[in-house]
Amino acid sequence: MNEWNIQSRAHACQACQKPFIDKQAYHTLLFDQAEHFSRMDVCSACWQTQFSQGATDRKGFVSYWQGTYQAPPPPPPEPIRKENAESLLRKIIESQDAKYAPAAFILAVMLERKRLLKVKEQFVREGERIFIYEQPATGDAFTIRDPNLQLNQLDTVQREVAHLLEHGLTPMTEVMPSDTGQPEGLTPLEEVPADEAEPVQN
Ligand SMILES: [Zn+2]
Repeated sequence: MNEWNIQSRAHACQACQKPFIDKQAYHTLLFDQAEHFSRMDVCSACWQTQFSQGATDRKGFVSYWQGTYQAPPPPPPEPIRKENAESLLRKIIESQDAKYAPAAFILAVMLERKRLLKVKEQFVREGERIFIYEQPATGDAFTIRDPNLQLNQLDTVQREVAHLLEHGLTPMTEVMPSDTGQPEGLTPLEEVPADEAEPVQN
């Protein structure tokens, strides 16, 4: 099983395909697909149908929750420059780099304490504890493995997290800078908005 993933909340019912509207109730069914958890978001009417057809008795069903759909906010006018705990966690999960597993877990705990993530479910799989967190605003579900940190590792991991928050992840395609950190003018973590990405004419 891939213990790390983010599954975004759907913007339309995955049974009847009707788009969700702001403040509409949605229902999430979570299934264990051996390789990963898969979620299915449906509207209330389709949830009734799913439920009466025995969706919660289906093989692999592990969890169900209900939420309120929030229409995505318009994109921020300025690109967000500083890495925050959530954006860093997303980048770590996207990197799929196991060396960041302890950092990812600490970030998830930090975000939960700040109520920016909520634990929806926890399981034990092959002796490892797996947490399903939800970001309440976007509805994204994060799957995070508990790395079972020992007390004497906490300090090192917390320092690593602080370093990553300050400097961001080094993109995997890039060679590690030898000593002085990022060369000036190179800001690989900033995303250029699509409308500013066209080449500059001189
Ligand atoms: Zn529906």
